[in-house]
Amino acid sequence: MAYAFINPYNFIPLGSGGKKAKEPEQKKGLSGVISYSLLTKTPLFIPNTSNEDAFDKDKNVKGHKSYDFFSYKDLSSMKGKGSVKNELPQPVIPGSEMRGMLRSNYEILTDSCMSAVDDEKILSKRTQEKFQAGLLKRNEVSDGVTYELYKAEDCLARTKGANTLEDETKAMAWSDQKGSVKYKEIWGRLCYRQDQLPEGSKVEFHYTPREKGKPLAKNIKKVSETSVEVSGKIGYIIKGEAGPLMKEKNGEGFSKQNKHCLHVFCLSYNQANEPIRVFRKFNEKFLTSRLDAVLSIYKQNGQSEYNEYRIEYENFKKGKGEQYFPVYYSKIHYKEEESDELMLAPACITREVYTRKISDMAKGYKSCEKAGSLCPACALFGTLGKENQGGVASRIRVTDLECVEKNPENCFDKEPITLQPLSTPKFNPEFYIKKPDERAVFWTYEYYVDQYGNIHSNTMELNGRKFYWHHPDFSLENCRGEISNLNKTIRPVRSGITFQGKIYFHNISEEELNTLCYLINAGENSNISLEEKQHGYKLGAAKPLGLGSVAMHIDNVLLRKFTIDENKGISMTEEPYVPDMACTLANNKIISNFAIMTEFDYLKNYLQSGKKKISYPRTQKDGDIFDWFSKNHTGYRYNKNERKNVSTNMPASRKNMLFKEYLKPMEPETKEVEGLKKVFETKNGGNKNTSGSSGRNTGNRGGRNNYGKKRW
Ligand SMILES: [Zn+2]
Repeated sequence: MAYAFINPYNFIPLGSGGKKAKEPEQKKGLSGVISYSLLTKTPLFIPNTSNEDAFDKDKNVKGHKSYDFFSYKDLSSMKGKGSVKNELPQPVIPGSEMRGMLRSNYEILTDSCMSAVDDEKILSKRTQEKFQAGLLKRNEVSDGVTYELYKAEDCLARTKGANTLEDETKAMAWSDQKGSVKYKEIWGRLCYRQDQLPEGSKVEFHYTPREKGKPLAKNIKKVSETSVEVSGKIGYIIKGEAGPLMKEKNGEGFSKQNKHCLHVFCLSYNQANEPIRVFRKFNEKFLTSRLDAVLSIYKQNGQSEYNEYRIEYENFKKGKGEQYFPVYYSKIHYKEEESDELMLAPACITREVYTRKISDMAKGYKSCEKAGSLCPACALFGTLGKENQGGVASRIRVTDLECVEKNPENCFDKEPITLQPLSTPKFNPEFYIKKPDERAVFWTYEYYVDQYGNIHSNTMELNGRKFYWHHPDFSLENCRGEISNLNKTIRPVRSGITFQGKIYFHNISEEELNTLCYLINAGENSNISLEEKQHGYKLGAAKPLGLGSVAMHIDNVLLRKFTIDENKGISMTEEPYVPDMACTLANNKIISNFAIMTEFDYLKNYLQSGKKKISYPRTQKDGDIFDWFSKNHTGYRYNKNERKNVSTNMPASRKNMLFKEYLKPMEPETKEVEGLKKVFETKNGGNKNTSGSSGRNTGNRGGRNNYGKKRW
C-alpha cells in the first residue's frame, strides 16, 4: 500500500470494566459556577442550520449544501435569495455542542459508560463464503413450532418472463400445456415463466443429472394439495435476480451467456436413504435472528428482489405455506468449543449477519439504565431516560459561549470554503474491533480465523472509544475540495479566536467539581495561558480534516452559599474555589492515554519526514477509502504444486480471508497482521479445507458478486 497515511481517528482503550459511581446522594452539596475561556487552535465549525443554502456557491450542483457558522440570527428568511455572505452575525458556540463534547470526554476520563453506543444496529458484512442449498422444515408440536434444516440438492431450471430481463418479457408465445407451468423453448431448452412459480412453491419435476455442473430440473409442474399422484421428484422453488447483462460480441442482441436460472431445492439423502439434517432443532426466535435479520438489511438497502421471498417466508412461518422452505445456509464450526453456528440467507453469495450488537462488544460499558448504579458521567450529566422512568436529571448547565472578539469581520475569512467530502463511518472490524488473538489473521464481530484456517468463536471487544487526533500540520487550504453533492461549503471561525462560557453546577460533590475542572483544563493547570496550552479537545464538525481543535482553561470557580436570615430572608454569598487537580474521579489507567489523545502536537514526530499525511486510508492520493478496505481484505490458497500458501485477491471462503493491516488503540500507524507471515510459512498447515470451494458460480444467484454500489 503505497499511500502513507495516519488514520484521522483512533481509539482510547476502555478501562478495567465499567466502574460505577459511589453516588453518596446526601454529601454532594456544592453549587456554583465555573467561568472558562476557549481558544480556537484550528478553524472551528458549527452550522447555523436555519439556512442550508447560505453561500450560493454553485447552483448547478444539486444537493450541495452551504452553511454559515452558528449564531442567534435566523437566516431562514434569506432562503432562495442565495447568499448570506455579507451578513456577519456574531458567532456563538451553542451550550449543547459544548455539553456534548464535555460529556463524551468526561466519560473517557472517568471510565464511564458509552452512552452513545447504538444498540439497535444489526451488524453485517459481505462475505466471499458460498452458502449451501438447504430446506427449512416447519414442525408444529404441542408447545409451539420448531424448525429443522436439511441439506438440499440444487437443481437448475431456465427461466424467462417477469422477474428477469426486460428484453425477454416482450410478447412470447408461451405454451399453455394443461397442468404444467407455461414455458417456451429457447436455444433448445425449456424456459419456465418465473411469475408462475412463486418463491417456495412446491413442484414436481424430472431430475436430470449432467456430467458437469448441477442437475437440471425439467418438466416442472406445480404440486397442489389436491394432486394425487406424483411421478417425479419433489422440490421447492428459489429464484435468482437477473445476472449482469452481456451483449453478443457484435453488440447486437443478447448473448447465450446470459444465464437465467431458477433453482429447485430438493432434499438430499444419505446412504440409508434418510434426509440429511445439518443443524440442531431450533425455535422461531433463533430462525428470526438469522434469516429475518438479513432480509431486513436487504430491504433497508432497497433490494426489492427479495420482496417475494420475504412474503412467502412469512407465510411459511405462519403455517400458511408448504412444510419446507428453501434457504441458503452456512455453518461455522468453532474449533475450540466443538460447536457450530448457523447463518441463513436468501442467496448463495450474501452477507453474514451477526447476532452480536455493538453494545455486546462494549462489555461492561453499556449505557446506564437505573439510578443507584450509575457511572460517574451519568450521575453528573444525567441519564438519557426520562426522570419518571428511573432516569436521573443533570446537575450541570452549560451556557452558550460568547465570542470575545466583538467585530465579526475579524472572526471569519472573507470567502467560505468548500471542504473535501467526509466519509460516513463504517464499522470495519480491522479498525473498530480489538485483534482477538495472537493467531488471528482475520476477524469479524463474531469469529476469527487463525493462520491455519481454523475458526474460533470470539467474544469481540471494541478497540475502545473513538477519538480524532489533533493535526499539528493543519492548513485549511489542504481541506479544500471540489463542489459536489457529497460535500459542503462552510464559513468556519478562524483559529485564534477566544470564546467565554459558564457552567452552572448544583449539588455536586467536591470530587465531581474537581473532575469537571480537570476536564476543562484538559489536565493542565488553570494558570497556563490559552496560547501556551499543549492539550485540548476537538469540537464541532469536520474533525477528520483537522478542524475544531480548541484549548480551554478555567478563569474562576465560585461556590454559592445560601443563608437564611430572619430579617433579610434568603441571601446568597459567592466565594472562590481553587480546584484540586489530584482529587478527581479520573481513572488512573486512562490518564496517560487521555494526555496523548488531547495533546495538540502528539503526531508531530510521525509527520516530521513529510512522507505521511493524516488522512482516511487510501491506496493512492485522492483514492477512495472503500478501495483501501477492499484491498486490505485478501485471500490465500494452498498451492499444491508450489506446496505453499499463495496470496489471492479473491478469497473463496471465510477460512482463507486475511487482513493485511489493522489498527491498534493509541498507535497512530496501522500495523501489519503478524499472523500474515506465518500463513505463508505454513507447509501444509491445516489449510486443506480452503481448496473445497472452486469459486464457480451457478445461476443468477452467483452473479451477486457484482451487485450493489459497495461491497460493504
Ligand atoms: Zn452511565
